[in-house]
Amino acid sequence: MFRGRRQRGRGRRPRLERKYGFFGCSSCKGHWESAQVYCVEGTKKVYFKQECKRCNMACNPYRVEDIECPRCGLPVADCKENGGCYDEDDVDEEEEEEDDDDYDERHVDAKKPHRADLCLKCRSGWKCT
Ligand SMILES: [Zn+2]
Ligand SMILES: [Zn+2]
Ligand SMILES: [Zn+2]
Repeated sequence: MFRGRRQRGRGRRPRLERKYGFFGCSSCKGHWESAQVYCVEGTKKVYFKQECKRCNMACNPYRVEDIECPRCGLPVADCKENGGCYDEDDVDEEEEEEDDDDYDERHVDAKKPHRADLCLKCRSGWKCT
């Protein structure tokens, strides 16, 4: 019964979970990070690759982490479980506040637009933003 289970256009999608990914391009050794990494829910199986902006190689992140709730600092799943202050719209968009202090590990340029041209998810027609 597994025949014909291909995705038909914009039919069904698996449930995805947004994660934070660290990418390394094996070709140019480039490095980037993205808060728009989508994994199959409950797993770290990356569903959409992103392309290296220098050589256009589609890459999987070498590491993915849970997105943390910017309000309470818990992983989003935990925050939601605990009744959650987490709100999708909070993360990495329109973060005008200056809280650079403890954020020296992750460097997503919240101010820069998402590189949809390098994101295979966006390019499949399913926009991240
Ligand atoms: Zn590259
Ligand atoms: Zn929270
Ligand atoms: Zn995207």
